[in-house]
Amino acid sequence: MTYFESTRSGSKADGLTAVLEGIAEDGGLFVDPNLQEHSLCLDEIEGKSSFEISSMILHALLPGFEDPEKLVQNGYQGKFSCGEILTPLVRISDDFSVLELFHGPTSAFKDVALSLLPLLMSEARRRNEPEKQIVILTATSGDTGKAALEGFRDVSGIRILVFYPENGVSEVQRKQMVSQEGRNVRVCAVKGNFDDCQTAVKKAFLELKRGGLLQNVILTSANSINIGRLVPQIFYYFSAYTQLLAERSIQKGELVDFSVPTGNFGDILAGYYAKKMGLPVGKLICASNQNRILTDFLRTGEYDTNRTFHQTSSPSMDILVSSNLERLLYYVSEGDKKFVSDCMQRLSTEGKYKVSESTLKRLQEEFCGYTADEEKTVKCIRKVFEEHGYLLDPHTAVAWSAAEQYKKETNSQRHMVVLSTASPYTFTDVVCRALGLTSKGTAYQDMRMIEGLTRTEAPRNLLKLESSAERFQDVIGREEIVSYVQKYIEERGEL
Ligand SMILES: *Cc1c(COP(=O)(O)O)cnc(C)c1O
Repeated sequence: MTYFESTRSGSKADGLTAVLEGIAEDGGLFVDPNLQEHSLCLDEIEGKSSFEISSMILHALLPGFEDPEKLVQNGYQGKFSCGEILTPLVRISDDFSVLELFHGPTSAFKDVALSLLPLLMSEARRRNEPEKQIVILTATSGDTGKAALEGFRDVSGIRILVFYPENGVSEVQRKQMVSQEGRNVRVCAVKGNFDDCQTAVKKAFLELKRGGLLQNVILTSANSINIGRLVPQIFYYFSAYTQLLAERSIQKGELVDFSVPTGNFGDILAGYYAKKMGLPVGKLICASNQNRILTDFLRTGEYDTNRTFHQTSSPSMDILVSSNLERLLYYVSEGDKKFVSDCMQRLSTEGKYKVSESTLKRLQEEFCGYTADEEKTVKCIRKVFEEHGYLLDPHTAVAWSAAEQYKKETNSQRHMVVLSTASPYTFTDVVCRALGLTSKGTAYQDMRMIEGLTRTEAPRNLLKLESSAERFQDVIGREEIVSYVQKYIEERGEL
């Protein structure tokens, strides 16, 4: 019998409840204590499509949902620019490939999970709380907001409200959000930076819950601690492996390494889950930008947030508290809830914790951490384009650089798959700088210039933003967020 428990107290929930609640009441995250029992053998997955693998994983890890095949169909069919492969593997050399995760509707890797999470939530609502409406409240620094808006658009029983910092997102990201279509979406700019925005949204959650204003509403968020966001990410590790088998780059059973540009630790944790489910994964390379807290943790065992926060050219990895690491602490300690609670308690009081030598050793058997600073990142984009004619976005460049450092240091002969989390066309300013091009003015002009120079194609959904109409104009101060949300909830809206 599959069930979930909280990483901190062990309180239990079934899959539908875990998806609906997102986070456990004790503040912990939902994990499946018997994860390794849900293995998929290679003979089962070889030759299967991404849709089939994705359904098999849903069926194994979230068995409470009625019809995984239909969920996957509805979530992905016709929405990805590369058809049913969803996440194509590009071979760069004999032992090096890139897995492209950015072919979804908003050209963000987060589309992969946010195409399914809304359907999981919608079913959980229909079956567990049919009288209630779900309101998704999200503060975004860019990529999560646009992927969440598109994923939740017109999903029944759910409305979504996204706040973004007025001057804290790129022009393309802003335009993606304010031109979003759908009758259940709303977008609002906040004066301030992302932290102000996020803090105010958290405050709104607490005040509205405390004020008892939520009788017929479930207020939740779309962030990456929801188990319904993690599970849909596992399939692409299996898919990468089947693609390598199909092109005969590896033999069945051979170990493959993955290098993952890491922020909140969701993407790389999905790789760890795939390994626990039996995929022949060698090392998982945890790649960080100048905010190298995870590299330091994986080398010393100390997770210490008392350090300077850097704004980098890979903003989705600018993060000091990687929430999903809590799930890894649970698994690596074999489900020791007291250990996890102690670490999280220390993190909240002292801003740091340290794990024992033996725990560190176990972590290092599975993971290793490498860092690429700003200079390394930009140089990597340039070098890879010159040597291979392949254009990287800054997040992927961090992972590429980490993969090279790892190969050099360990002399590993295993095939390396670098996960690519964004289209280079979402970060035209950095790409122009790396290639030595002078910006032409707008991001759209730069996209066309890069197209011409690199003979690659900008995603259609980004180019067409230039002429799309803006639907949302609201700009508010952060002190107005609570009343704005309250008013939004009271409107209810018919769904
Ligand atoms: C979210 C994001 C990441 C980080 O993924 P996590 O699952 O949070 O570790 C990396 N790159 C891009 C472009 C992202 O949007």
